[in-house]
Amino acid sequence: MTVTTRFAPSPTGALHVGNVRTALHNWLLARKHGGRFLLRIDDTDTARSREEFVEGIKADLTWLGLHWDGEERQSARFDLYEAQFQRLVAAGRVYRCYETAQELDLKRKVLLGRGLPPIYDRAALALSEADHAARAAAGEAPHWRFLLDRESPIEWQDGIRGAQHFDPARMSDPVVRRADGSWLYLLPSVIDDVAMGITDVLRGEDHVSNTAAQVQMFAALGAECPRFAHEALLTGAEGKLSKRLGSLGMDALRDEGIEPEAVIALLARLGTSDSVDPALDTPALAASFDLSRFGRAPARFDEAELHRVNAALVHRLPFARAAHLLPEGMGEAAWEAIRPNLSHIGEAADWWRVVTGPVPAPALEQEDKAFLAEAAAQLERGGADWQALTAALKEATGRKGKALFLPLRRALTGMDHGPDMAALLPLIGREEALRRLSAAAT
Ligand code: GLU
Repeated sequence: MTVTTRFAPSPTGALHVGNVRTALHNWLLARKHGGRFLLRIDDTDTARSREEFVEGIKADLTWLGLHWDGEERQSARFDLYEAQFQRLVAAGRVYRCYETAQELDLKRKVLLGRGLPPIYDRAALALSEADHAARAAAGEAPHWRFLLDRESPIEWQDGIRGAQHFDPARMSDPVVRRADGSWLYLLPSVIDDVAMGITDVLRGEDHVSNTAAQVQMFAALGAECPRFAHEALLTGAEGKLSKRLGSLGMDALRDEGIEPEAVIALLARLGTSDSVDPALDTPALAASFDLSRFGRAPARFDEAELHRVNAALVHRLPFARAAHLLPEGMGEAAWEAIRPNLSHIGEAADWWRVVTGPVPAPALEQEDKAFLAEAAAQLERGGADWQALTAALKEATGRKGKALFLPLRRALTGMDHGPDMAALLPLIGREEALRRLSAAAT
């Protein structure tokens, strides 16, 4: 069977780093097996779902290069849910309930007070058809619970957590449909996973208890369960899920100059002890993606690490990939000279200004001025070749090391540090370099 994964965001907000990691891992899993990666918009909550979030989610996935092979929207699939739901009604696997939130809360408190687990008591199962009719006549609509099979232990082999066991006798029958007819997440998700041929459900461990209930829903619908894997949640570098991390979106990262490949490189490995390698392209990341590498401890996301990965990525980024983000006129040689000094591509413009000038005239000692006059004379005789220029100056003045290089760098760039002068000098060009040396010498 073709490996088919899905990313199923609810469009009630922008994606944050944690959701993006889930999307990426599903994408990598599908790519690794030559399978399919589907985007499922979980928009059953019509009040909270917004079109702008759907657009934002797609824009972020596109920016990251996580292309999806198919797209579905839950809001367009209500007929399917209704039909499957009616099967469960006919099979007696869903039942009508009327308790209010307050009543349920009270029941829970009583049980907890007695030291018992706060499990729904199935009181509504005892209602007769006459009771339901009376409720209906009084204008009261039921909500619906899924009837767990308390005799069938729930088990699955989790791709990350290993063997999982749940005792359905210790679980509440989950509510699957509200009194207004709207759907909660649990059942439509299972119906879709079956209909879309999902073979692997990979999601956060906050869904483990949902999975326990859903395992029985697959069975009730006569379907095989997909493989499940639940990833440890993300925490901030400081150990807990910070507010910032929970809302850290791709827009913010993009604005800080983070490249999508850096996000991919880091998030692909986050949760494993494997090293992050910005040199790996997505086919290599997919080939090496392996659920068994993921641990159960919370995965730490460190923004500073993302910036380091980004810098390492930029240092090896080919010109063709960076070109559209570079200032007008900045060519391949300039990019290659400048990129080792960048932590993000946007800074290239600052260094390009050092090439094109004007640069601030440095404050220099008298003897450095004489030295720079000599440098101008040497440059006049030779070409814009740094090796030749510095060799000749060393010979002529006896200077070496810092005393030789620093005044030249200051005069030519207006700065004490920066890209390799051997690469920079030809870019500045002989005429302009002469102007700068002469200006600094007077
Ligand atoms: N819409 C659900 C969520 O965002 C999907 C969970 C799932 O992957 O099944 O949590």
